[in-house]
Amino acid sequence: MKKYLIITLCTLAIISCKSDKKDNGKINVVTTTSMITDLVKNIGGDYINLQGLMGSGVDPHLYKASEGDVSKLSEADIIFYNGLHLEGKLVEVFEKMAHQNKKTIALSDALDERTLIGSEFFASNYDPHIWFNVDYWKEATKYVVRQLSEAVPEHQAVFKTNGEAYLNKLEALKTKLNKTIQTLPEDKRVLVTAHDAFNYFGKSFGFEVVGLQGISTATEAGVQDVQKMSDFIIDQKVKAIFIESSVPKRTIEAVKAAVNAKNHDVEIGGSLYSDALGNPGTAEGTYIGMFEYNVNTIVNALK
Ligand SMILES: [Zn+2]
Repeated sequence: MKKYLIITLCTLAIISCKSDKKDNGKINVVTTTSMITDLVKNIGGDYINLQGLMGSGVDPHLYKASEGDVSKLSEADIIFYNGLHLEGKLVEVFEKMAHQNKKTIALSDALDERTLIGSEFFASNYDPHIWFNVDYWKEATKYVVRQLSEAVPEHQAVFKTNGEAYLNKLEALKTKLNKTIQTLPEDKRVLVTAHDAFNYFGKSFGFEVVGLQGISTATEAGVQDVQKMSDFIIDQKVKAIFIESSVPKRTIEAVKAAVNAKNHDVEIGGSLYSDALGNPGTAEGTYIGMFEYNVNTIVNALK
């Protein structure tokens, strides 16, 4: 009789363990883009089981959930995503998860809508590339601290300490980026890229930003867009234009060819990280390293 009781209790313990926590007792957190994964990792550290869905070079606008993703999402206690329709093809999956009473958190909810840049291309009517404003990313950091603290109150002191340390790093990053940008004459601060990922960057750091493809990569640039862009580059005497790590480079190469066909020259200034970080383990595989790399690449090529 005693033996039977013990077995039953054990079985119950295993079942309850499995239903909301992985075997190590930590909560399961799933994130979408690599920027969000990096942010949550900085706050949660070893106190959470963290799985990011999208790796480096992955375009979130076009990303579809695989079967493996769906099972990761269904085992998650909290899901952090960008929102504002950045992950356009995951909306249905997230809705399904919300019906299962799962905590799905859009980082864009941390921001005041009135401070967002409008967009005719998005169903939300806002530009989703919010991580390119460091102050907005600081708000997202505070939001992640709050959400993780609510989910695991016993570790809230750690999350708070990690959050404060990360906020300090972001403030130092902003100072460093501004210093680098100051070395570029104001009339040279024109950024031409494959798609409109850099509007928040432009607004916070004083660049005019022109994207070939609109705010989502879901619509391809046409011949007319390429011609218009090449005229702009010639008029403004833009020295360099940029490809993006998560967008095929053929569109920007077409612009360069169109400029060359009009007997002008423009360089391809390098590849920028827009909607995904670099490889894990490299400096560009972190948000801070990515931002420094982008700004150094832009400033060096436009000087
Ligand atoms: Zn984008």
